[in-house]
Amino acid sequence: LSSIQDGDVRVVAPEAVDDLIEVLIRRGYHVIGPIVRDGALVHGELTSGRDLPVGVGAEQDAGRYRLKERADRALFGFAVGPSSWKQELLPQRELVWTGERSGEGWTFTSTSPRTPPVAFLGVRPCDLAAIAIQDRVLDRQELGPTPYRARRDRIFTVVVECGEPAATCFCASAGTGPAAGPGGDLVVTEIVEPDRHELVVGARSQRGAEVLGELGGRDATVEDRAAAAAVTEAAAARMERSVDIRGVASLLARNPEDPRWDDVAARCLACANCTLVCPTCFCTTIVDTGDLSGDHAERWSRWASCFDLDFSHMASGAVRPATRSRYRQWLTHKFSSWWEQFGTSGCVGCGRCIAWCPVGIDVTEELAAIGTEREVTI
Ligand code: SF4
Ligand code: SF4
Repeated sequence: LSSIQDGDVRVVAPEAVDDLIEVLIRRGYHVIGPIVRDGALVHGELTSGRDLPVGVGAEQDAGRYRLKERADRALFGFAVGPSSWKQELLPQRELVWTGERSGEGWTFTSTSPRTPPVAFLGVRPCDLAAIAIQDRVLDRQELGPTPYRARRDRIFTVVVECGEPAATCFCASAGTGPAAGPGGDLVVTEIVEPDRHELVVGARSQRGAEVLGELGGRDATVEDRAAAAAVTEAAAARMERSVDIRGVASLLARNPEDPRWDDVAARCLACANCTLVCPTCFCTTIVDTGDLSGDHAERWSRWASCFDLDFSHMASGAVRPATRSRYRQWLTHKFSSWWEQFGTSGCVGCGRCIAWCPVGIDVTEELAAIGTEREVTI
């Protein structure tokens, strides 16, 4: 069943998305959602429903992403694109402190990031799960108050369940979609049929119920709820890729010397695209800079990748100098040792790393190949 079976559930016309954006803006939120830019569906500011990519879809496959025109006026007729919400919650580049030198020496000032209230509109179920995973990593009690926590506290989340999985999606096997798991303020299911186009909207929080109350529409009937559930059930049934998300953890731990690591290393460019688009990859590094006068210094935090040679640099040099060891580190951490570290898989099955790998390396294919018996031809 769809996850929006309980609580307040209303059925509204697709045009009500305009009202939703207006209500959120009136309540002080900066609204971010899917827009078309540079031939892809990315996150951008929404000021009205006109900013949404109406009737736009996307074809995805290993190493391939293309926008396409849909035959209908679906608002959310596509799966995830290259943007993930970590861009908003853990910015790519962020100033940590500045330092000024005067006669008495250096004075350092910590920077507090601006954290305006932001509404995320169109969070896919896999990305909702990815945010929960990043919470476990970046919002641990021992870290104290962090910019991440400050941002998290200011988010209003509108989840949109998936009716149109890409060929790269495998969230059903990861247990994260296409119906929404726990969390969020509102959950939307878009029903697009030849004679029906409506949004079934459920509230998941008090403030979600307040916003929903301003959207009009009618109470959802049992039939409406069943129609919404059918959307995600059909999407799950169409998904072609899958991973045994529990089983691969021990498989990877048992096979650090599998010949497949050499095979994939021969194809991998170590470009780091997969880690940049992955919604759960969280590594950052620190960069200190100074100006030519020597009186001004800055410390920046920026995204890092385990595919960078410098990532494992220690006194004697890089611990993982070969692409083979870097790819193995990435896949093994994400699908295996993440369980021991954070109690979940590090993968939510969004498929981004498959589509955005320039040479089309497919994690589902690599995982299926590890540990399989090979015939030796002499
Ligand atoms: S490893 Fe790939 S499929 Fe899994 S969450 Fe990251 S980008 Fe998505
Ligand atoms: S797997 Fe693909 S995206 Fe990831 S580092 Fe290698 S070439 Fe780049």
